[in-house]
Amino acid sequence: MKIKPLKNGSLKLHNSGKLNLFFIGVGSAFSKRHNQTNLLIIKGPDHVLVDLGTKGPQALHDIGVSVSQIENILITHSHADHIGGMEEIALTGRYVTKKKPNLIVTETYQHILWDMSLRGGVGFNEDNAWNVLSVYDFFNIIRPLYLSNFPRETFGIQVGGINLKLMRTKHIPDSSDSWKSSFWSCGLVIDDEVLFTSDTRYDPELVHDFEKKFNFKAIFHDCQFFTGGVHASLDEINNLSPAVKKKMYLTHYGDNWEQLEAKVKKCGFAGLTLQTTFYEI
Ligand SMILES: [Zn+2]
Ligand SMILES: [Zn+2]
Repeated sequence: MKIKPLKNGSLKLHNSGKLNLFFIGVGSAFSKRHNQTNLLIIKGPDHVLVDLGTKGPQALHDIGVSVSQIENILITHSHADHIGGMEEIALTGRYVTKKKPNLIVTETYQHILWDMSLRGGVGFNEDNAWNVLSVYDFFNIIRPLYLSNFPRETFGIQVGGINLKLMRTKHIPDSSDSWKSSFWSCGLVIDDEVLFTSDTRYDPELVHDFEKKFNFKAIFHDCQFFTGGVHASLDEINNLSPAVKKKMYLTHYGDNWEQLEAKVKKCGFAGLTLQTTFYEI
């Protein structure tokens, strides 16, 4: 894997054909020194934006990308650091560019995302306040298909040249004992080569089961620097095998990362994921 910083500060949403992961942010939900952990997957002419948090539209603007250029978007769960920018993408598409982006979403999560979050901000029809708009007025819905024979509930979708598998994760609440009893959230397998957990609590089965199936080239894993709450901690994921840690980059981390960088290396992880940097697979 090649790791390359963004040159001249301006990002193109296409490349010569190699799978690239580009994190517009690597920070935790409340990070002030980084943008939130939102990811652009770019391969050939295709791109998918994974999550758009409250800081997301500004983070894109800062690298020369407008939300109106985003053609495909996938949301991993409904925390504001993952959906807070969605209102801007919806309203810009409907009222400025008159273009609907593709929203890659399962049927179950579509209702959660629209009915419990987005509808309150964008649902009122500009012509008739009683005629509430639907998610279809803002997005082309692209439906991943259920995949059987996976260790947990998993859906698959091909977006141009990019293959995505969405598997359920164990994120919230902190009392849930498995992904089954957790509120809807997902991680991703990208082109059968990369695991991106998005937000998850420590869930060794997720890593072990999917690593066994795919033998990933790289893993990008949620990490917070203290134990407790709804994220995997550095001390917890340190219990994973050395072979797995060697290819694991940590994301969604706190603003005190300089103090923990040496420990991350000493534990045998590949390192902290860097913001606005290409990870070319
Ligand atoms: Zn988050
Ligand atoms: Zn979250």
